[in-house]
Amino acid sequence: MNKQIILLPGDGIGKEIMESAKYVLNTVASEFGHRFTFHSHAIGGDAIDQYGTPLPDDTINACEQADAILLGAVGGKKWEALPGNIRPEQGLLGIRKKLGLFANLRPIQGFAPLLHASPLKEEVVNGSDILIIRELTGGLYFGKPSERIKDGKAVVDTLYYERSEMERIVEKAFESARLRRKHLTSVDKANVLESSRLWREVVNEKSKEYPDVTVEHMLVDAAAMKLITAPTQFDVIVTENLFGDILSDEASVLTGSLGMLPSASIRSDGVGLYEPVHGSAPDIAGKGIANPLGMILSAALMLRHSLQMEEEADEIEEAVRACLEQGYHTADLSVKNGKQVGTKEMTEAVVENITTKSVSDSICSTYA
Ligand code: NAD
Repeated sequence: MNKQIILLPGDGIGKEIMESAKYVLNTVASEFGHRFTFHSHAIGGDAIDQYGTPLPDDTINACEQADAILLGAVGGKKWEALPGNIRPEQGLLGIRKKLGLFANLRPIQGFAPLLHASPLKEEVVNGSDILIIRELTGGLYFGKPSERIKDGKAVVDTLYYERSEMERIVEKAFESARLRRKHLTSVDKANVLESSRLWREVVNEKSKEYPDVTVEHMLVDAAAMKLITAPTQFDVIVTENLFGDILSDEASVLTGSLGMLPSASIRSDGVGLYEPVHGSAPDIAGKGIANPLGMILSAALMLRHSLQMEEEADEIEEAVRACLEQGYHTADLSVKNGKQVGTKEMTEAVVENITTKSVSDSICSTYA
C-alpha cells in the first residue's frame, strides 16, 4: 500500500521527535510491505520565520491531499510577543478547522514500569485504559456571540450545536467502543443544560444501532471525580468540546508521563491529524533528550484510524511497551533500575523491538 503522509514537525522538540516517527514508520513499512511517502511542510513558529504566517497555503493544500498528517508541536518564546493572529498556535487551530477535524481522540493507558510516577496510588491507576472522544469544532468555543456587552459590564458566550454535529461524534464513539471493550460513557450536564438534554437524546437514539455496546450516562462533575477515584471503570468516554477539553487534560496526568501520550483529530472519511499531547518543550529542544514515545504512539494511532493498519499499529504499541519493560527510558520518565537514554537510542530500541518481533513471528510461522 502506498500512502502519502504529510509531516508538520513544527517547533522545538517537534523536529527531533518527528525523525523518530519517520524511522519507526519506515521500519513498519518494510516489515509489512507498505510504502509511505513523506512530505514535510512548515507550521507554527517555523512557518512564521519562513513565510510570515503560522499556516501557509502550501501547507493547507498539501494537508488537503494527504492520506494522513503527523504533527510534532508548535510554539516557543521567540514568537510569544507577536499579535494573536500570527502566533504559532493559530497554525494548529487553523489546520484542524480547515480540514473539519471534528473528533479528538485521546487514548490514556498506563504502562506498568511508569505507574509509580502517577499522582494517584498505583493500585488505583493500574489497569486504566481509557479512550476520550471529544467534539472539537462546535459548542462554547465557537458559538457566536462571544463578547463583552453593556459597556463591558456583562459578557456573553454562546453554546451552539447542530444535532448533526452531535450525531457524527456520538457515532464515532459507538464505532470506537465496538473495537474495544464495548462500554461507552456519555458525559453531559443534562440536569442543567438544554444542549446536554439534546446530547443525551442523540446518544439514546444512536444506541439502538449498537445493541452490543453498553451505554452509561454520567454528569460531568461525577465524571471528573470518577476519573481520579476509579479510572479503571472507564472504557470509551464521549463528550462535547468544553467538557472534553477539561476531562482529557485531567485524565492525561493519570499515567504520570506527559511525554507518552498520543492524540488524533479526525473526520468521517478517516483523514486525520496525529500529534503528541505535549508541547514543543523549548527547555530541552536541541539537546537530544526529548521523549519520542508520544510521537511514535501518535504514528501508531495514524496507522489504526486513518490507514486501516490495525496489526501494524499494534506492533508499534507492543514495541513501546516492550522497551519500557526492558528498562529503557528518557530523562522525563523515572523507571526503577532502568537504562536512561536519549531520543535516538529510545527510537532505536523501539525499532529493534519491532524487527525482533517480526523475525520471531516469521520463525514461528515457518515451524507452525
Ligand atoms: P510542554 O508540553 O512543551 O512542556 C512541559 C514540560 O514537559 C517541560 O518541562 C518539557 O521539557 C516537558 N516535556 C514535554 N514534552 C516532552 C517530551 N516529549 N520529552 C521530554 N520532556 C517533555 O508545555 P509548555 O512548556 O507549557 O509549552 C511550551 C510551548 O509549547 C509553548 O509555546 C506552548 O504554547 C506550546 N504548546 C504546544 C502544544 C501543541 O503543539 N499541541 C501543546 C501544548 C503547548
